[in-house]
Amino acid sequence: MYDVCKCLKCTWIGQREDPDIKFHLWGNCMGELEHVPLSVEEFRTIRSATMNIFQDNKDRRRFYESIIELKENDIVEFGLKLSQFRTQVNQETARMEQSSAVPRCPSCQSTQIRKIDVVERAGSIAFLGIFSGKINKSFKCKNCGYTW
Ligand SMILES: [Zn+2]
Ligand SMILES: [Zn+2]
Repeated sequence: MYDVCKCLKCTWIGQREDPDIKFHLWGNCMGELEHVPLSVEEFRTIRSATMNIFQDNKDRRRFYESIIELKENDIVEFGLKLSQFRTQVNQETARMEQSSAVPRCPSCQSTQIRKIDVVERAGSIAFLGIFSGKINKSFKCKNCGYTW
């Protein structure tokens, strides 16, 4: 049974598999873990919605703490925020499902297409993540020869 907890030593906030796990078994931390009043579902929603917002973990943790505080002090406002996050996550999921649908040639609608060599275009594997939006659009149709 998962719950959400925070580490009193390194201030990590996340899920633990079992509330009987009392110490943060990550790296050499071994800090004491304390339950926080967020459900796992709430935490996952908030985490997914804010996945790309925070550059560093400190900011992310501060944000989680402010959300927990909000839940304790203003449950109505917390509910509003959470439903915003849910909408965001649903939109993102829909968008990703759409982009993973079978691609077709925009010219002749054929599914006989091939990806143009991604390594050649991006220069380096390390950049694939950054350019993936662009790379996904790099196809050539085997049927009519159209590229897009
Ligand atoms: Zn820790
Ligand atoms: Zn085509």
